Amino acid sequence: MALIELEQLRKTYHMGEESVHALDGVSLEIPERQFVAILGPSGSGKSTLMHMLGFMDTPTGGRMVFDGKDVTHINVTQRAWYRCNRIGFVFQAFNLLPRLSVLDNVLLPVVYSRELENKKHARERALEALERVGLTPRAKHLPSQLSGGERQRVAIARALINHPRLILADEPTGNLDSKNVDRILSLFGQLKEEGQTIIMVTHDLHVSSYAQRVISMRDGQVEKDFLQTPRLSGADAVAAGGRL
Ligand code: ADP
Ligand code: MG
Repeated sequence: MALIELEQLRKTYHMGEESVHALDGVSLEIPERQFVAILGPSGSGKSTLMHMLGFMDTPTGGRMVFDGKDVTHINVTQRAWYRCNRIGFVFQAFNLLPRLSVLDNVLLPVVYSRELENKKHARERALEALERVGLTPRAKHLPSQLSGGERQRVAIARALINHPRLILADEPTGNLDSKNVDRILSLFGQLKEEGQTIIMVTHDLHVSSYAQRVISMRDGQVEKDFLQTPRLSGADAVAAGGRL
């Protein structure tokens, strides 16, 4: 069973007399354990699709199934539950709180969660998430004491803490230099190998080359959808005897 099924999903915005079809009949199936890049030019509907997948907005037509449940018409409270318990978000601007330590930033989704289950062993889970992104030694630092790449790794640890079924990343490397781009995208590749499903939005062909599947969008529709061999990280390419 696919983790996500979209059938002819639509989102139309009405601006006075005019209608904008931000999503114009998108049909997709995304299985678990896939690292997917959504690629497309500005205005093609990438962010709108992310908002639907992240339960931040509702479609105006079509159907969306998440983990076997029809979630097309669920209410505000149910959407909040999915956001909190099933989705981990990673943004271009990291969105860390500057006065909180790295560890406390990772703990934020726990603080905001109403689920008792999420409060259990929170500190251990935060430390485990930091371990997965290789930042255990930085737990007590403030965000200002970290590089951009490290800050984004903190944001990824924060996205992982509630063990989400899906990580959604909107232009996650947009603020990083090329070495850190490689590190962050390789980290996504590694998380995928560990069983995590990741959907990443980008307008950059290089960034999408790290994913295993590319869905390209144009004018609110899927233009192409294909599997590829993902690019190796710089370090892995050297280990494999290849050139950088
Ligand atoms: P992308 O992320 O690929 O740049 P978007 O999903 O942000 O594209 O936008 C797709 C289209 O929908 C664009 O034409 C945009 O102007 C329009 N759009 C997005 N959000 C809104 C909104 N809240 N109200 C009206 N039009 C919108
Ligand atoms: Mg966008």
